[in-house]
Amino acid sequence: MNKPLAELPININPLYLASQKASKLSYAPYSKFHVGCAIETQLGQILLGANQENVSFPACLCAEAVGLSNYAMITDKSPILRVGIYVHSDVPTYPCGICRQMLLEYETRQPGHTIDYYIFSKESFATFTSIKTILPHSFSEFIPT
Ligand SMILES: [Zn+2]
Repeated sequence: MNKPLAELPININPLYLASQKASKLSYAPYSKFHVGCAIETQLGQILLGANQENVSFPACLCAEAVGLSNYAMITDKSPILRVGIYVHSDVPTYPCGICRQMLLEYETRQPGHTIDYYIFSKESFATFTSIKTILPHSFSEFIPT
């Protein structure tokens, strides 16, 4: 259920601002669909991702994939606490199926640490815990833990 941004808990505001900032780093000349992703670790580090399009469309990268790649490159791994995804749209836009599967892999690799998700639009947000909430019957039995 979507809530107005005025109801966003104050401790989530940095995640909101970071994901909004990330959306401005998007390269989306074809779709004009600018997505920002912010990945917050338990140590408070926030890593950004933005979608990167290419004239060869299969080469496009989603904001979540770029954000997860940035997270993968840090050496001082702290579990992912929250993921924020921002699209300057009227209603929150959820991750695509491929990104849900990618997020599931990272979530599964940090047993005992669930991830809270915040999906932001320009005036509202939706929130849920665990990507499994929006990825039923996931392909996960072979993910190493
Ligand atoms: Zn995606």
